[in-house]
Amino acid sequence: MSAVIGCSPEEAVAQLKQGNPVALPTETVYGLVAPLLDEDTILKVYTFKQRPLNNPLIVHVLDERQLNQVAYAGTQATKLVNVFWPGPLTLILPKKPSVPPIVTAQQSSVAVRAPNSSLFRNVLALLGSPLVAPSANKFQQVSPTCAQHVMDGMGDTLSYILDGGPCSLGIESTILSLLDEQHPTLLRYGPISKESIEDVLKQSVHMPPADTNDHATKLCPGLFKKHYSPHTSLYLVDKLQGFKPPQHLEQQFNQQSAHVFFTRSNRILTGKEFYLTKNEDLAEAAANLFALLQHLDQCHFKSIWIEKVPHRGIGCAINDRLNRAAHERFL
Ligand code: AMP
Ligand code: MG
Repeated sequence: MSAVIGCSPEEAVAQLKQGNPVALPTETVYGLVAPLLDEDTILKVYTFKQRPLNNPLIVHVLDERQLNQVAYAGTQATKLVNVFWPGPLTLILPKKPSVPPIVTAQQSSVAVRAPNSSLFRNVLALLGSPLVAPSANKFQQVSPTCAQHVMDGMGDTLSYILDGGPCSLGIESTILSLLDEQHPTLLRYGPISKESIEDVLKQSVHMPPADTNDHATKLCPGLFKKHYSPHTSLYLVDKLQGFKPPQHLEQQFNQQSAHVFFTRSNRILTGKEFYLTKNEDLAEAAANLFALLQHLDQCHFKSIWIEKVPHRGIGCAINDRLNRAAHERFL
């Protein structure tokens, strides 16, 4: 089978009703979706992605009414929903019994967000029920930020890809756990910063201890050390300007390698040099990141050397993805 790329929310709904997962655009990345109560189609989502069943899915809802069908939202959750939804903030909340265990990897909590993409919201409205949606790529690979990436990665298993153009944000949602409302905990960096959540909650947001990946994995199954990886080996460095690789990697660094800069300089770019953004703009860098990694994979470089971006706002999310995508780090 080869997927059809189209622009019809009605066709996406028709496919879902026939038990076929479809790919839909969101403002973050493209998602592979199935109806919340359709366990057979949800199982196909895991299978198509080759995603382990212990890696729970995010439930995508239209509004607060649908949120209340799937989770128990307290006062802190309601404050955040009022400010950031629809948008790229996923909340981990106690789940209601109606949510099938396959969605939450048997946990008593559920991840929920309301996406801001109008096509996705059209599908939710036409279907009249929430959808589950992980990113529409194979497990641990680069997330898709346009319809063609979905086609390249999973076109042979899907029937329909709804094309909404390139994703405006290009990086996955921020994940915040509110299981203990006294201790909100940031589980994944994303477009909504820790500081902006703290401003709304009037309370500090905790981070899982950075040194113990095991601990973070228990809180947030699926938050693997390796993730978002292009096929080409990726090396993360502090600054590329003046970078000297260790001796055993000199050849790798100098030959058939792509160098990706964040910081502008007056250099004239050679064919192997790329910028994540034209004007050191973090939002633009986030929107370009996965598309550039996909492009560099297709150029058949032997390695990609990329520099860290400033660690503020959405820059924290970019650095987090680069850290997980990297083969080796020189920071
Ligand atoms: P993805 O769909 O690939 O963006 O990943 C969704 C991520 O949300 C998972 O990998 C988990 O890290 C996280 N997640 C989903 N549900 C839960 C939950 N109930 N508790 C904690 N983390 C969750
Ligand atoms: Mg993903």
